[in-house]
Parts: sequence; structure tokens; C-alpha cells
Amino acid sequence: MRVLFISSEVYPFSKTGGLADVSGALPKALAALGHEVLVVSPWYKQLHQVKPLWIGDVDVPFEGGFVSVGVGRWRQPDSGVEDAFVGHPFFQRERYYGYDDDMRRFALFSRSIAQVCARCNFYPDIVHCNDWQSGYVPLIFKHGWHLPKGFSGLPCLFTIHNARFLGESAPQDIVHQLRLSAEFADGWMNFYGTALAMRAALGYADAINAVSPSYAEEITTPEYGYHLAGSYYEVRHKLSGIVNGIDTEVWSPSNIAALPQGYTADDTSGKALAKLELCRRYGLDAERPLLVTVSRLAEQKGIDIVLHALPYLLEQGWNVFMLGSGEAELEAWIRYTSSQHQGRFASYVGYEETFSHLVYAAADAIAIASRFEPCGLTQMISMHCGTIPIARATGGLRDTIRHGETGFLFEDANPTGLLWATEAARRTYDTPYWQKMMHNGMQEDFSWQRSARSYEALYQRLMAKNPRT
Ligand code: ADP
Repeated sequence: MRVLFISSEVYPFSKTGGLADVSGALPKALAALGHEVLVVSPWYKQLHQVKPLWIGDVDVPFEGGFVSVGVGRWRQPDSGVEDAFVGHPFFQRERYYGYDDDMRRFALFSRSIAQVCARCNFYPDIVHCNDWQSGYVPLIFKHGWHLPKGFSGLPCLFTIHNARFLGESAPQDIVHQLRLSAEFADGWMNFYGTALAMRAALGYADAINAVSPSYAEEITTPEYGYHLAGSYYEVRHKLSGIVNGIDTEVWSPSNIAALPQGYTADDTSGKALAKLELCRRYGLDAERPLLVTVSRLAEQKGIDIVLHALPYLLEQGWNVFMLGSGEAELEAWIRYTSSQHQGRFASYVGYEETFSHLVYAAADAIAIASRFEPCGLTQMISMHCGTIPIARATGGLRDTIRHGETGFLFEDANPTGLLWATEAARRTYDTPYWQKMMHNGMQEDFSWQRSARSYEALYQRLMAKNPRT
């Protein structure tokens, strides 16, 4: 089938977070299953590893008239995936987001999709939108005027990567920008007088999925739904969850360039060498079990919970290493605490992708105390490297870790919750069963192929239900 994949960021061209990783990897995995995929993203001022070929301009219906938008093409070598880039001065800025007119910028992006595809001669069977930046696309394809032939009424899937970002603007502005009939200003987009792209997507997409089944359920509750819990609940009949994958080759411990020696599930001696190397560099005693964190330093990730628990973690016998960057307050807290516990707690404050490979391989266990986690990658990377995750039972963490078999899960997002699980892990570490758990985790299938097959099945169900097909 022909899949149109729309995203505001795509690895390796543009990236601020996990959405880019999914938009880079999932289309490739779909192409490997034999599908034709066109990925459309903005033509930002800063695009990495790509020089799109400009193939002309298209006229996009916008704000009562037409706006000219450039179309760039690129074929990713050996991936089977085609890319199209939407060019406009709106995207020639220093950052991708964070401007007052963000919703207007991505309204133009969303409105241009049909014209850009037609220009690329790509007529999709299914449309896959991601997060608020393309949240209005299902509405445009259902009720928009001036659509090229073949785009009206296409089945649309909308994926929620993070329910915290909603795409806000004024209802009368957005219907004007998208050239929609005024009645839509009072429809699904309208949330107590504010237009939300996320809510419009919930109303008009044929199916919605979150990036894990547990997160799909959690967002229907006030604790996780971030204003829209009631709306998610209302559309729960078309809401499901599909867990992301990881690039199992990039993260394979057998070919990691950053390690002293590669290893496999059957021979983990290279893992012991990695631990020796990290402990040597940071003055930690390699005889003790090593607990690490690899994380953005943000409230969501519960790094404060780990720091509050630190003295007790040391008492339980762990040495601790933290790799992370983010909020200045947390960075300072980590730096100060490691200066206070030399020999038992060390840290590297910064973002170091290559170094993170060594940290994942060196660790015996990783602590993930997230307050919410739509999917999460670190637990999957860890298990793939034979490192046992000790994680809060939320979102994708709950769905990918089997308590007592591949990792340890705790319910309460506080130091007591975490310490309960690290204590259980600490006791298990002294038994042969620890090796069995490592082995179990390394055998799990976290490949993108598995996720792609779930998406493929969902697309097929939507196409079967769509009156056009
Ligand atoms: P999120 O996207 O919410 O930050 P995920 O668990 O989905 O969390 O993905 C985080 C990714 O970023 C992982 O690949 C992890 O290894 C990486 N990462 C996070 N912090 C760092 C860091 N300081 N240095 C290197 N890699 C990091």
C-alpha cells in the first residue's frame, strides 16, 4: 500500500526528540515490508545529511487566498523511502519550534500536504499523522475545500507521541488559515473557546494510537491526560497503543564501537570489560553492582526521585553513575552530589551519544523513575545490552518490561517506590537468577519490524472500513 507519513521532524534530517526517531525508523521498516512510503516534513533552515532537490512550487489554499510553497524531494539511499520537504520562509528560522506563530506555521504545513503529494505524483492509500503539528490534516482531508483529486476522504491515522503538546490558537484564526467553513470553529477543535490541533485530530482521525498500550489507557485519566483526559475517553473506541522499536543494529552489544570488546547473550565477558572501563575512568569500585541513569534531565524523568534516594541506594550496596543533560537545577544537583560521594557516585553532565553505549553496556541495572513515559527507549536499549531496568510501572515501561523476568517495576513515583524495587534487584543480583534475567532481556524482540507489522495491520483495518476502498 502507499503510505503518506507526515511529521514535523525526521531523523537524521531534523530532530528535537523521540518523534524524529520514530519518523526516521518506522517508514524504513514499512518499506522493508514492501510498502511505498512518502515522508513529508518541513524544509527547515537546518537540515542534516540531506540536500533536497527543489522540484517546483505549489499553490496552497491558505488565509483566504493561496500561498506559494516550495517542494523538495530526496530519496534515502537503500531505504526504499521517499522524502518530500515543504519549503516556506516560516521554516527558515533558528529553531524548529518555540515561536508565537507556531500554530500558523504548522497550519500552513498541514494545509500544503495534499498539494505537495500531488506535485510528487504520490497518491496515498493511507495517511499517518503525528502529534499536534499535523493534527489538522484529518479535518482538512475530510472537509477541506480545494483538495487535489484523490485526497478527499482518505483514511487517516493519528499517533500521539506526547500528550503534553496540544497546538493552541484561536478557533476563528485556524478556520481562516485552513480555509474551512466557519462551523468547524465550534466543532471538535474547540476546547472551551481555544482551538487545539490535538483535539481536532481526536475528532476527525479514523483511528488514534499512542506509542504504547498503557499510555493509550493512561491518557484517558486526569492524571496523565493533561486537560484532554475526557476527550481521549470519548474517543476510546478508536484509540489503541503500539510500542515503538529501537534500532537493534545500532544498539547491538556485539558491534558497539565504543566498547572495549563486543558481547552476546551467550558470552557476556565483554560486558564485564565495559564495566571495568567505566569504573576505572570514574574511580568506582567495579566489584559492587553498578546502577546507572541515562536521561534527559526533566521533571518527567524523575531524576529528583533517584537523587533523593541516593544515600539509601549506596546503603543497599549499589554504585551509581548518571549520564544526563537538561534542566540547570538538576545538572547542578547531580554535580554537587557526585562531589559528595566520590568513589560511590559519579556522573557526566552532557549529551554524549557514543559514550552512552559504554554506559548501557557497563551497567548492571538502570533506574528509570519516570512520572509518565509514552513509550521510552532507554529500557529497551538496556535490555538489549543485558542491563536490567528498574522502572516505574507507567506507559511504555509497563508494556516492555516483564516484572521479575526482564526487569523490576514499581508503582509509586517516589523514593520509597524506587527503593523497594532496587532492594529486590539488589537481592537478585547475588543469585544466579540475575544472569537468567539478563539473558531474558537480551532475547526480547524490540525491532522496528515488530512495530511496523502492528501499524500495517492497523492501516489495513482502516482501509477496509473506508468507503473509498
Ligand atoms: P525521551 O525521548 O523522552 O527523552 P526516550 O527514552 O524515549 O526519552 O529516549 C531517550 C534517548 O536519548 C535514548 O536513546 C537515550 O540513550 C538518549 N539520551 C538521553 N540522555 C542522553 C545523554 N545525556 N547522552 C546521550 N544520550 C542520551
